[in-house]
Amino acid sequence: MRSGLAAPASAPASIAPDDAPAVRLLAETLREAARRNASDLHIEPLEHGWRIRLRIDGVLHESARPPAHLRDAFVTRIKVLARMDIAERRIPQDGRLRLSPRGETQAHEDYRVNSLPTLHGEKLVLRRLEALPADLSLAALGLDQPQQQTLGAAIGAPHGLVLVTGPTGSGKTLSLYCFLQMLNNASRNLCSVEDPAEIQLAGINQVNVREKAGLTFALALRALLRQDPDVIMIGEIRDEETASVAVKAAQTGHLVLSTLHTNDAPAAVARLIDIGVEPYNLAAALRLVTAQRLVRRLCAKCRVRSDESAAALSAAGLDNDEGEAPQTSRPFVARGCESCHGIGYRGRVGIHEVMPVSTAMRELIVAQRSAHEIARQARTEGVATLRDAALARVRDGTTSLAEALCATDTPS
Ligand SMILES: [Zn+2]
Repeated sequence: MRSGLAAPASAPASIAPDDAPAVRLLAETLREAARRNASDLHIEPLEHGWRIRLRIDGVLHESARPPAHLRDAFVTRIKVLARMDIAERRIPQDGRLRLSPRGETQAHEDYRVNSLPTLHGEKLVLRRLEALPADLSLAALGLDQPQQQTLGAAIGAPHGLVLVTGPTGSGKTLSLYCFLQMLNNASRNLCSVEDPAEIQLAGINQVNVREKAGLTFALALRALLRQDPDVIMIGEIRDEETASVAVKAAQTGHLVLSTLHTNDAPAAVARLIDIGVEPYNLAAALRLVTAQRLVRRLCAKCRVRSDESAAALSAAGLDNDEGEAPQTSRPFVARGCESCHGIGYRGRVGIHEVMPVSTAMRELIVAQRSAHEIARQARTEGVATLRDAALARVRDGTTSLAEALCATDTPS
């Protein structure tokens, strides 16, 4: 894979008069993406023509099918701005581009650009590189009061391993950034190893992994440990070496924060033992595991009460146990209006499972008991599942039952 320049390109390219419609279309597309808070833009060649799709709150929506003759100029324009090789269409390329889609007075927006040769031509994907949200707190992440307290205690501890689990795109990195920000003060040395650092954080020593140059997670982590760290954030634990160094660091006076790809919190234990971590080391190091998903928020302007039968709601786990009148306790469903572009949802909120590792759980880990048994112990200790957390957001009208069930539909 070829790599574009790491530095954002901001110098405008010279434009031939024929390119003007494509340039205008690009400006309009970027404005729309910014207005609708899209995370990704897909510029896709089709067998006949091409289309532009936007990913909004995790779901792709078609935004335009522009005239076929504009495609080449449109793609070339992006590649020029992203300092990619415009003549090269057969090999994937990466680039980076900086634009101010909302007009010159607004802040710049950065995009990571990737090209891929497909059967019908070159496809581009533009990922919007997000800035840190203004409100980065445990409450803003969607944790309820008891979860905030449990998590606050774990990351306030001087050492131990705290893991955030979930699939790609579930907001794990933002959660780690929130924890780092909470710990970020002059008395602590905070470091991170990431692939790559998604957002720059003031006061935190961020290191980008560069596998091709030989700078792996494990190597960067070992180097960090010689730099007198207090808190270490590891973007992701993917291999035995990284896992072992992380666990050892957590046992030797460091607070280690990382993510893992598992469906729920109890499964993280089995995954780390599978990777090769010794159960007794894991039991000693692991302090808390969370799991998370993002659910779309219903548009408050157009949501309507569901007309589902009481039996259907009960079957989905939404028992009306608070004794409310049935018509007012029915969950809301998405409808769609002008302000949500007909989607029925606007923005997303995190739902979380927060599992502190108890003495009983440590014994189960050392005895190498199954994730199922650890899960059962967690429920005995009152740890709510992701499904419980999702249904709570249905009850309070934040999201729909369909969205809650979809987000917590765990493949077994
Ligand atoms: Zn709406």
